[in-house]
Amino acid sequence: MRKYVIMGVQGSGKGTQSQLLAADLDLVHVSVGDIFRWNVQRHTKMGAQVRRIMAAGELVGDDLVESVISERLAWHDWNYGFIVDGFPRNRPQAEFFLESYDIDGVIHLDMPDSEVRRRVLNRRMCANCGINYNLLDSTPSPPGQCDACAGELVPREDDTEEALAVRLRDYHEKTNPVLDLFRRKEYVVTVDARPAPEVTPTIRPDPAVTMSGSASARTFR
Ligand code: AMP
Repeated sequence: MRKYVIMGVQGSGKGTQSQLLAADLDLVHVSVGDIFRWNVQRHTKMGAQVRRIMAAGELVGDDLVESVISERLAWHDWNYGFIVDGFPRNRPQAEFFLESYDIDGVIHLDMPDSEVRRRVLNRRMCANCGINYNLLDSTPSPPGQCDACAGELVPREDDTEEALAVRLRDYHEKTNPVLDLFRRKEYVVTVDARPAPEVTPTIRPDPAVTMSGSASARTFR
């Protein structure tokens, strides 16, 4: 049983790396952002609650986020473990999480703000199936169309300069202290997130290796 958290700024590749790791280790990938986007797309009551907050790049209230995480993990479909993506994002969420779950490690995808901006403004999402594309790393063919389902590729509503500024500010002010908290517990492995996913070998936690704050990406291969 492995229980991991993956953290990193917007555009650092949390979704992509979580999916690779989940496929590799049979983990359930839990992304609060994906759950919210699913609800927004389907015009549910929760979708209506979070849509404007997400588009502005702001954080959704802790009560709602915590209930989404608790309800999803209460399915107990994670026989081999889970990887939680994009949660916790502030200290109260971290404390809430640690009260209910032991975690085996935190993967921190490290990326400078200048690179985040370049990536996020070149990110597109399939309006039909939700796959993410980064136009810097790969060009779908034909352009503007999803390779998997031929759906239209559109920017995410929160991938704008304005929303990005809010998200980066929140990340540095609210999420960085969570990383410090996890570092003190020696949970964190920091990985350089700048190389493209096909260049960076899949992140693979090695259960035999004790995680430490200064461990390099190699620990995970
Ligand atoms: P993400 O896909 O992780 O970038 O999340 C997209 C958006 O969903 C964020 O900008 C927030 O508006 C909301 N969200 C996702 N996770 C959280 C969280 N842990 N706390 C608060 N809001 C969140």
